[in-house]
Amino acid sequence: MNLENDQYLIQGIPLLDLVKKYETPLYIYDSSIIKRQIDRLNKAFDVPHLDVHFACKALNNINILKLVNQWGAGLDTVSIQEIWTGLKAGFDPSRIIYTPNCVGVDEIEMALELGVQINIDHIETLEYIGHHHPNTKMCIRINPHVMAGGNENISVGHIDSKFGISIYQMPLVERLVKTLGLKINGLHMHTGSDILDAGVFSFASDILFDVAKKFPDLEFLDFGSGLKVPYKEDDVFTDIEELGVILSKKFNDFCKDYGRKLSLYLEPGKFLVSECGFFLVKTNVIKQTPSTVFAGVDSGMNHLIRPMLYNAYHQIINVSNPGGKPRVYNVVGYICETDTFASNRVVPEIHAGDILCFKNAGAYCFSMSSNYNSRFRPAEVLIHEGTDMLIRKRETIDDLLKNQIEVI
Ligand SMILES: *Cc1c(COP(=O)(O)O)cnc(C)c1O
Repeated sequence: MNLENDQYLIQGIPLLDLVKKYETPLYIYDSSIIKRQIDRLNKAFDVPHLDVHFACKALNNINILKLVNQWGAGLDTVSIQEIWTGLKAGFDPSRIIYTPNCVGVDEIEMALELGVQINIDHIETLEYIGHHHPNTKMCIRINPHVMAGGNENISVGHIDSKFGISIYQMPLVERLVKTLGLKINGLHMHTGSDILDAGVFSFASDILFDVAKKFPDLEFLDFGSGLKVPYKEDDVFTDIEELGVILSKKFNDFCKDYGRKLSLYLEPGKFLVSECGFFLVKTNVIKQTPSTVFAGVDSGMNHLIRPMLYNAYHQIINVSNPGGKPRVYNVVGYICETDTFASNRVVPEIHAGDILCFKNAGAYCFSMSSNYNSRFRPAEVLIHEGTDMLIRKRETIDDLLKNQIEVI
């Protein structure tokens, strides 16, 4: 997005034109940013084979998945429904990794049937597959017990975490592999979203290399994600170029010792799509109380829950008044409970009717939206090769009622 003559543009298209055409609230995705991020990853790593799998829980519109497929990435899925969506988007099953947590064997059976790469983080499930599908190649998700992640809810590698098989249980896993003849073709870790620096990532990767020595038939090592992108000016973020240099060297050294060239897998969600997204809302009211000036907008925690759920910071731009004098606001939603997007935020003066834009609205924004308060979910627009395209209709009252059965 750039500012020219007091107008914000994406790929040359003024945001206010998009608002006229599609109304608010509106999610907009700039495809060129996703492509840029994929290219950055490919450039940053110098290994025999890098395989990027997009964690589609971050942004699951089928058009985004199709583009990601075209640009050579695979898919990281966490549910059978994500697998179905990925297959519908055209991904070959071999390009889809399925990393479930606490799902039943019936769902695992469905995934096996579809031929995707499964990634198991539960010892009993390993045994189950060993007994029922002895020739299935599978990946094991380990928990390296590294404390990382921007928020308690998204930090998944620590000792109390429900994710992964503890590295302390590896002797038991090895015993099962030998006894049941399990085919382990990959090892995986994902220690949490928002790992701050290459150092933490590199420390965790040493643990994965150590475990990997004990499995002779590996084809890949999957380092998960947790790559952080900047959410504000001067924010800390993962230096992907630095990480690429450090991890590539370690990986290549490991492959030499191991005696075979493995593939290096990454499965970023946020890194690929956070910055491509822009969420446009309209200011309904400016309401002054004894302590605060509220800007109340036509959206809320039902459309963008990250600020309320994770205390996440999203930059807010006044698209209608870029040159306005800076003032201090609490930007809030229209939901009937406290849904604060931002407190004490300095924004160019906001008037009722002004269009505000939340940045970094590509990852975990629309995909976490709901119909709370019986509100419709927003429309989604893709800007691709200079053209804007509606990729999800705004909902209607029929959508809200369609699965309800009137029996009274
Ligand atoms: C959510 C998730 C990811 C993506 O994490 P980001 O922080 O969005 O990059 C990758 N792998 C697994 C297993 C996940 O659950």
